[in-house]
Amino acid sequence: LLPVVALVGRPNVGKSTVFNRLVGERISIVEDLPGVTRDRIYATGKWLGRDYRLIDTGGIEMTDEPMMTQIRYQADIAMEEADVIVFMVNSQEGLTTEDEAIASYLHRTKKPVVLAVNKADNPEQRQTVYDFYALGLGDPIPVSGAHGTGFGDLLDEIVAHF
Ligand code: GDP
Ligand code: MG
Repeated sequence: LLPVVALVGRPNVGKSTVFNRLVGERISIVEDLPGVTRDRIYATGKWLGRDYRLIDTGGIEMTDEPMMTQIRYQADIAMEEADVIVFMVNSQEGLTTEDEAIASYLHRTKKPVVLAVNKADNPEQRQTVYDFYALGLGDPIPVSGAHGTGFGDLLDEIVAHF
């Protein structure tokens, strides 16, 4: 049984981009119904010889529900199914009230939470990681899904919890 890693975070922080980087494939959109697109949400990744299952909870959609309701639902799935939860935030937007709400929701789980600060594309943006210590989820790890940087540190932290 492979360890399960779930990506959680508000829309647009870059979950799907990082997901596709981690599984080494280009974005693959599945169209189920006319007008409905859904990200691919399950895949298998590998790091240092360890295989794991990855879930992009952002691809689990409930139409017509408020954003926080959807994120809470996604976080519930992560807290239930994952061995390690990766909470993703956006260094370019900084800490938001939604991030704080998600963090306090995730504080209820006993499962390990890894804090990934995406869109840290350059050294100045990497400096913003310090702001995210305020979430109380340990060391924030800067990554850039666009540039493919920081993934070694992120994956080391993830597999340390397997
Ligand atoms: P999701 O809603 O969390 O799945 O976010 P997406 O993966 O769909 O990304 C949202 C937007 O952010 C897209 O336009 C991405 O190209 C962009 N994006 C993702 N990762 C990065 C990054 O590391 N740096 C920058 N500058 N943009 C990014
Ligand atoms: Mg997405």
